[in-house]
Amino acid sequence: MIVQKYGGSSVASIEKIEAIAQNIKQTVKEKLIVVVSAMGKTTNNLISLAQSIQKEPNKRELDHLLSTGEQQSASLMAMALQKVGVDAISLNGIEAGIKTTKTHGKALIKSINTKKLFSLLQKHDCLVITGFQGCTHDGTITTLGRGGSDTTATAIASAMNAKCEIYTDVEAIYSVNPARHKNAKKLNELSFNTVLEMASAGAKVLDERAIEVAKKYGTKIYLGKTLCNDHSKGTYVMDKNFMEQVEVKNISVRENVCLMKLETQKISQVIFVLQKLNQNLEMLTINEDIISFICKKEHQKTIENALKDIQNLKVEKILEEISRITLVGYGFATHPQIVCDMLTKMECKKIDILHLVQTETTLSFLVKKEKEKETIKTLVSLYKL
Ligand code: ASP
Ligand code: MG
Repeated sequence: MIVQKYGGSSVASIEKIEAIAQNIKQTVKEKLIVVVSAMGKTTNNLISLAQSIQKEPNKRELDHLLSTGEQQSASLMAMALQKVGVDAISLNGIEAGIKTTKTHGKALIKSINTKKLFSLLQKHDCLVITGFQGCTHDGTITTLGRGGSDTTATAIASAMNAKCEIYTDVEAIYSVNPARHKNAKKLNELSFNTVLEMASAGAKVLDERAIEVAKKYGTKIYLGKTLCNDHSKGTYVMDKNFMEQVEVKNISVRENVCLMKLETQKISQVIFVLQKLNQNLEMLTINEDIISFICKKEHQKTIENALKDIQNLKVEKILEEISRITLVGYGFATHPQIVCDMLTKMECKKIDILHLVQTETTLSFLVKKEKEKETIKTLVSLYKL
């Protein structure tokens, strides 16, 4: 059995949906579950509609509205499959029995009614299931959060013990963003941990939650380009651990971040504020009474105000217009040579490193935005990426 997920840009038009249906008819010879995202920019458009009524729409109603995006693409996909002779039916999150927590807009999947899905697959060859949605135990529609269809796919594949294929408009995962660096290397196989680090360092590869689920269940993911049936072209993400490997695999970049530094004796309260604002903790360092962390540029003001409001804390130093560069790999702690080479090169090129945080599997540092390009170029050549 296979679970195939198609992203929003892959199902952006009827022509694209029909081409996928045709390809499925020709290539898939086993039971299939297709998970779809909403067509093209549908979700964004629905959010704009809601916000034209109210800046912060009621969360329950917003979930109701957004869930219709995936229902459109799922039913259209089922129709396209039926047209070419595939016995398919579509199911929404409620029908598929995807039970979630109650947090509208960020619900977590609790369970999937696999019994129902298995029995439907005895009657039909293909189920088309809406991504990104589920329902609470009392049947209220919820959504999983932006990009949530990847999680739907890996969760269903994990629950059904099926193969998992995620199709998008990029060919594979690369050593560095191929849209910017034409000699980027394609990566054939990556471990769950490496891809998780890449995703949290800003690479837009797979949704982090989807990788978490796959990792937990050991579900191998194939990531490739829609309509490309040659699986040597894409990337496998799997449970792969190397004994004593030393390697830089990838450079991921997060642009437009801002570094905040403040002195306080109430460090835990600062974290409390960040948690209340739903912020991830990134590049957090605590040194005696000095705490520093980075945030997205657009959240800077909100965070500053919240700190002021709650405990009258003033952020002492803010660096703006900076980029976070992250090397992902293995051996950064046990093989200082990697870090040493990097620092020496940066010194030669007169690129200032503004803040650096390192673990065994990541080396993350900040540079001025205008130095980002040169930094990446230097690293690509240094580590032959
Ligand atoms: N349609 C949703 C979004 O745009 C979910 C997804 O595409 O994964 O965020
Ligand atoms: Mg996506």
